[in-house]
Amino acid sequence: AKDALELRKSYKGNVTGQDIPLPIGSFEDLITRFSFDKRLLTNLIENHFTEPTPIQCESIPLALNSRDIVACAPTGSGKTLAFLIPLLQQIINDKETLGLKGLIISPTKELANQIFIECIKLSNKIFLDKKRPLQIALLSKSLSAKLKNKVINEKKYDIIISTPLRLIDVVKNEALDLSKVKHLIFDEADKLFDKTFVEQTDDILSSCTDNSLRKAMFSATIPSNVEEIANSIMLDPIRVIIGHKEA
Ligand code: ADP
Ligand code: MG
Repeated sequence: AKDALELRKSYKGNVTGQDIPLPIGSFEDLITRFSFDKRLLTNLIENHFTEPTPIQCESIPLALNSRDIVACAPTGSGKTLAFLIPLLQQIINDKETLGLKGLIISPTKELANQIFIECIKLSNKIFLDKKRPLQIALLSKSLSAKLKNKVINEKKYDIIISTPLRLIDVVKNEALDLSKVKHLIFDEADKLFDKTFVEQTDDILSSCTDNSLRKAMFSATIPSNVEEIANSIMLDPIRVIIGHKEA
């Protein structure tokens, strides 16, 4: 525990909230603390992700403890893996449940695509059972059309990555059910909760009706209005700030 606190000090991590889990010092820590999937660890190493970045050290244990998170760390600090690693582990843990369980919202198609690519790398060769690989989709124009035409079963995917408008469009057309989503992640949350998007973001939130819904926000900056919204929609959130002057 002392080492973990030293670690937090070394990267000037400012973590606030109730019952804060200790950070991890290495990805191997996940094996002992959370019976982490060995295949997932192999995928990290094969992609040369050998040591967690500070935001990953802090966020991964929080997410694996099913805590709501407001995370703020600079651009390029590894926020994508900070939410993807625990999400994949939680989907593996919940392999009995069929249908959409993880939803990642990004303000732009380009960013959504980058998240998708990282997610595909990490999920390589992971099977939920002998026949069923973990299914991840980017909600593209063509996938959205296939869902609406029922060419693809909406229960096929475990994780979907989307921009707000495209997601709302399929939900309004009753082509995608969000009521079983257990993990809702807002990337670049400052933009998603800004004037341009806040209405859509609210729509998404009200479609995710599962009682055990866990929410996370990741951003390089958390303006005070976003912080306010976070506090109003989240349950006992933990706030993680890495590398800011106030830390
Ligand atoms: P952010 O979202 O915070 O701006 P990204 O998630 O896009 O940052 O990550 C920035 C870069 O760092 C990416 O190229 C990513 O693959 C790389 N990266 C992330 N985590 C690690 C890690 N633990 N070890 C090495 N590289 C990493
Ligand atoms: Mg990012």
